[in-house]
Amino acid sequence: MQCPSCQHTDDKVLESRTIQTGSIIRRRRECNQCSFRYTTYEKIEAQPLLVLKKNGKKQPFTKEKLLIGIQRAFEKRPIPFSDIKDLAGQIEETIRQQFNFEISSSDVGKITLEAIFKIDQVAYLRFASVYQTFDSIEEFKHLVNQLQNREIYQPIL
Ligand SMILES: [Zn+2]
Repeated sequence: MQCPSCQHTDDKVLESRTIQTGSIIRRRRECNQCSFRYTTYEKIEAQPLLVLKKNGKKQPFTKEKLLIGIQRAFEKRPIPFSDIKDLAGQIEETIRQQFNFEISSSDVGKITLEAIFKIDQVAYLRFASVYQTFDSIEEFKHLVNQLQNREIYQPIL
């Protein structure tokens, strides 16, 4: 740390204190040359959460992108936009609680599917059909049949 008074770079820490629920450290310092005292604040750098895609590329996770994907599934469904936005917020929270640095795109898909299922089954089927490329119409019918026989969510993909 460079002394604000004499620009000397050698100092000693007199006191360290954690503030704001542990995310900031406040340090009282004293310059070893001129004895000037000053305070520094260290902040933990927010770590971006990365999504690992099937092609091996990584990109930052954003709620905006998530919302765009979900919105498409809910097109023309009788669900208010505010609910869809809340849903995206909930999904983001679930993801950030469970994953710190990296999440696979298939895990994003699974968590999103489960959340959508609780709100609207048509949107769920739409999202599932985009997320999972079905090999045949039979496969899709199978998914619909499975869905009709279920009351509670169970992962099927
Ligand atoms: Zn100094």
